[in-house]
Amino acid sequence: MKWEGNRESDNVEDRRDDSGGGGGGGGIGGRGIGLGSIAIALAASYFFGINPMTVLSILSGGSPAPQVQHQGPAHATPANDQQAKFVRVVVASTEDVWTDVFTKGNATYKAPKLELFRGATSTACGQGQAAMGPFYCPGDQKVYIDLAFYDTLKNRLGAPGEFAQAYVIAHEVGHHVQNLLGISAKMDQMRAKLSQTEYNALSVRLELQADCFAGVWANHSKSALQLDQGDIESAMNAAAKIGDDALQKAATGHVVPESFTHGTSAQRGRWFNTGLQNGSVKGCDTFAQRQL
Ligand SMILES: [Zn+2]
Repeated sequence: MKWEGNRESDNVEDRRDDSGGGGGGGGIGGRGIGLGSIAIALAASYFFGINPMTVLSILSGGSPAPQVQHQGPAHATPANDQQAKFVRVVVASTEDVWTDVFTKGNATYKAPKLELFRGATSTACGQGQAAMGPFYCPGDQKVYIDLAFYDTLKNRLGAPGEFAQAYVIAHEVGHHVQNLLGISAKMDQMRAKLSQTEYNALSVRLELQADCFAGVWANHSKSALQLDQGDIESAMNAAAKIGDDALQKAATGHVVPESFTHGTSAQRGRWFNTGLQNGSVKGCDTFAQRQL
């Protein structure tokens, strides 16, 4: 993968020096959440989740998180460290690819913002915590990532490689694409009508589709980022390492398929690969498949 010198996105906000939106490691909506529930949350569903705050507040016995808006101006100081540059190049690449895909489909792509934070930050979905892993909030159309996650990915989850890191961002941007396509809104409508197990099954389809969209992005960015086979393998490996079965097994020693929200390692790798091979959004209709 070769990214240095490529265009950098203007949509990356650097809030790593902020104090965490006033939360500073506290809970959501003023309710404290113990390490226990965060650990459970991590094991159960969090890696790359969509709106993890809702689940967290369920775990802590509370009502859904209040809507919190950002206060104060976004950080104007552009960080020039390598990691921030890398993120800006990857985000720019997702902008190029999705603008092109949407334009060809006679639609307009409205790019999301990406916020770099450290520790905790306030979002339209409630208080975001680094421990949740990177996530996308449909309410403010932003991707959130604490770059410490990249160390976790490499050292604790066994998924090294720059392209694995890029895949993480592409997956979250995939959730943004779902939001633009109205898929997230449909999921919200379904939520009240379904049992938790049924909703989890739907969530798996949503997550696998985001993996597939990440694959679509990889297909289209192959030449711009000079991807080679090793890069693709590092992303496939990352997809596998964050499968629900792998994470649950690592955390608790056993696997509870009804509680899966993201899909198994095999499924995640397969759907990333489907997007990569086809390069088309239509090929990512995980909701229409009998067999995932
Ligand atoms: Zn996700």
